[in-house]
Amino acid sequence: MGGTLYLCATPIGNLKDVSARCLEILNMVDLIAAEDTRRTLQLLNHFEIFKPLTSYHEHNKMEKGEYIISLLADGKNVALVSDAGTPAISDPGEDLVKLCIEKNISVTSIPGPVAAINALILSGLSTKRFSFEGFLSVNKRHRKEHLQSIKNDTHTLIFYEAPHKLKYTLADMKDVLGGDRKIALVRELTKLHEEVIRTTIDGALELYEEKSPRGEYVIVIDGAKKDNASENWWDELAVIDHVNIYIKNGMDEKDAIKQTAKERNVPKREVYNEYMKRKADEFE
Ligand code: SAM
Repeated sequence: MGGTLYLCATPIGNLKDVSARCLEILNMVDLIAAEDTRRTLQLLNHFEIFKPLTSYHEHNKMEKGEYIISLLADGKNVALVSDAGTPAISDPGEDLVKLCIEKNISVTSIPGPVAAINALILSGLSTKRFSFEGFLSVNKRHRKEHLQSIKNDTHTLIFYEAPHKLKYTLADMKDVLGGDRKIALVRELTKLHEEVIRTTIDGALELYEEKSPRGEYVIVIDGAKKDNASENWWDELAVIDHVNIYIKNGMDEKDAIKQTAKERNVPKREVYNEYMKRKADEFE
């Protein structure tokens, strides 16, 4: 029988955040594959876990991936750990998971810290809908293209960023998203100097005119405001639901369709066809 790949989330700064289950798994597996072996060794030494350790990172993931798969196929259990937080989030773990799925090897996760989610919940921005955008490219053109592609998204946006790139990224964000967007710069989560700066993109740029960014950052940005044209109470409703609200309120079908068409500024026939089609679907 094949072994299992355990995706083990490890602390993003505070060693006390490691879970009891993570320690149990690290003590049980035959091999620990780590993105940054030096960092993982600190964790293992702290908890007196003495297990074979190997590196698995962006630059050796092809050969090392094959090697890890061969061990798993041989029945060995392997733990994968990121340099911090949850493996496969902005690290090559994703590729190893895909390989395991391809080869029918069992994979499971040991949940724990992830910087993006902790930054989101501390940001004060909407947590109802959000997207994780990872790291923006180091290439300015690609960075701007990425920002352009999400400029009109109305949900909260989450980015990872390195301190030495932060100022350039903020400048591009101002260009593309506008300086008045709300932003939270969440740095050094769970560490001694944890800080959440809640401001605007302009405010953040101003702040870093005087000092240099230091530490690890997550950037959380408010979604685009809906324009007036899309701020109608029925925007999120399907046509059939829009019509049905009027019917429930006592209108007959014909008037409800007429009213819906008027509000949506579309021909009555279009609403009628859509309404009849959905109604027929519901009966099927
Ligand atoms: N897999 C990790 C996770 O689950 O969050 C992230 C790994 S990614 C290579 C590293 C990035 O995560 C950093 O550049 C930073 O943007 C973010 N990060 C990691 N630890 C952090 C912390 N303690 N505070 C703020 N951001 C952190």
